[in-house]
Amino acid sequence: MLAAACHPSTTENPPMLIDELRRKLDPTAVITDPHRLAPYMQERRGLYPGKGQVVVRPANVRDITQAIEICHRHGASIVPQAGNTGTVGGGSPRSATEVVLSVERLEAIREIDPDDGTITVESGCTLASIQRAAYSAGRLFPLSLPSQEQCRVGGNLATNAGGLNVLRYGTTRELTLGIEVVLADGRIWSNLTGLRKDNSAYDLKDLFIGSEGTLGVITAAKLRLFPLPRCRRVTLLSLPSVDAALPLLRQLQAESGDAVVAAELISSTAMAMGQLLEGTPANPLAEADWYLLLELASPDPRADLDTCLSSILEPAMNDGSVSDAAISSSESSAERLWLLRTAIPDGQKHAGASIKHDISVRPGELSKFLPKALAAITEYDKDIRPCVFGHVGDGNLHFNLTQPAQGSADDFLARRAEINRIVHDIVAKHHGSIAAEHGVGQLRLSELSRCADPLSLELMGRIKDALDPNGIFNRGKKIPWTRFAQ
Ligand SMILES: Cc1cc2nc3c(=O)[nH]c(=O)nc-3n(C[C@H](O)[C@H](O)[C@H](O)COP(=O)(O)OP(=O)(O)OC[C@H]3O[C@@H](n4cnc5c(N)ncnc54)[C@H](O)[C@@H]3O)c2cc1C
Repeated sequence: MLAAACHPSTTENPPMLIDELRRKLDPTAVITDPHRLAPYMQERRGLYPGKGQVVVRPANVRDITQAIEICHRHGASIVPQAGNTGTVGGGSPRSATEVVLSVERLEAIREIDPDDGTITVESGCTLASIQRAAYSAGRLFPLSLPSQEQCRVGGNLATNAGGLNVLRYGTTRELTLGIEVVLADGRIWSNLTGLRKDNSAYDLKDLFIGSEGTLGVITAAKLRLFPLPRCRRVTLLSLPSVDAALPLLRQLQAESGDAVVAAELISSTAMAMGQLLEGTPANPLAEADWYLLLELASPDPRADLDTCLSSILEPAMNDGSVSDAAISSSESSAERLWLLRTAIPDGQKHAGASIKHDISVRPGELSKFLPKALAAITEYDKDIRPCVFGHVGDGNLHFNLTQPAQGSADDFLARRAEINRIVHDIVAKHHGSIAAEHGVGQLRLSELSRCADPLSLELMGRIKDALDPNGIFNRGKKIPWTRFAQ
């Protein structure tokens, strides 16, 4: 356990810190060579290039506790990092005295218990490797993100990642039975019993899930597994109006026995921007204002998803609420339909700079929020191209705005604060969230201070002070209200 009186300063000597890290951990655990540091410092959107000069990659939980103890003694604060796919600057060191602590070497699957429906994994496992391990044991781990080959479960837990299947299975929080965390004082808090019911304490794991590395370093988790789907259909629909999306989704959920796993809304501009990415299949439908991509899946091999789909889509096409439809007939055609959606974030880059908003409102509010937000942007600058897509069943949209086709990226990005304000004020009027699934990190910190409930921020500051009194972890991120915010 660390000495509580030791307050970090920013004036300690990095060579002494690095020497001690090298001596106490194995030699491959410490990176200082600029070429090898680069991937840990490159933040996905290029908004917050990391300024750190040291990355430490402990090989096990004991070495993580050692690394925390050493950094603490030398006055270095710590930036936890997993797969570095986060989009809000949460994993980027803000100064040269911050040490990146990567969990990437903690890659063990500690246990799979298919009967109990659980898998216990270390936090450096990639999301895709957990999905594959579950599949080999005849089970499904349903968390699914387009970044799943690179992101690691420590990062998924720290951001409470959402993704494509939240509608049916919930966010990372709802898929987690317990976690193991190294605290700021070097002790390990473990809650990996796998109990489904336990009201003997506050649910402490929920403090760490979604805390974006500000309260401790997550080293392992016990996650829930589900029966594998035995049949699956993906369908792409074109809709003349966004108002048609939610009633159609609700009807399908009711009549399929809750078999709808994913429901993604795609605007015509977003669909067109996805097409800019090389290798994206052509859109099989005639052009429309909005598209709805749905996946239905069932563990029951006798489930008749085709009949269910046609019983709802035929009347909808007759009454004009759906203009056109494509339904997968094989696994590969299902994947091709999904590519139309997953290509959008990378395709959008080919259209120029973007200002992105990761917002949520109650699903029923979406059809009121969207026209207002789109009209406000058009009034502000009619040449901005809204590229809207996302998880309509959860009320979470990526309300992304791409720069005018003519004009400079820098001029557009310089308007970020005022554009954020326009969008977030409308979100607030609809009682929504300005950080629905990607987190707050550095990107949304100032807007959070403006939009969030002051009492929630005060309580978060108090929790931070209680668990990390010396402000070791991820300073200046996630929580505006703390003495270590700057
Ligand atoms: C193409 C693409 C698509 C994406 N789609 C989605 C999506 O649909 N839904 C979604 O939710 N996100 C999405 N993301 C964002 C990102 O992939 C997720 O936020 C993911 O959960 C981050 O995991 P990571 O391992 O990359 O974490 P990192 O980027 O390494 O870290 C993210 C945050 O968690 C903290 N952290 C990391 N590891 C730990 C740890 N062990 N203990 C404590 N704190 C830690 C970091 O300090 C940082 O604040 C997408 C990203 C990309 C690039």
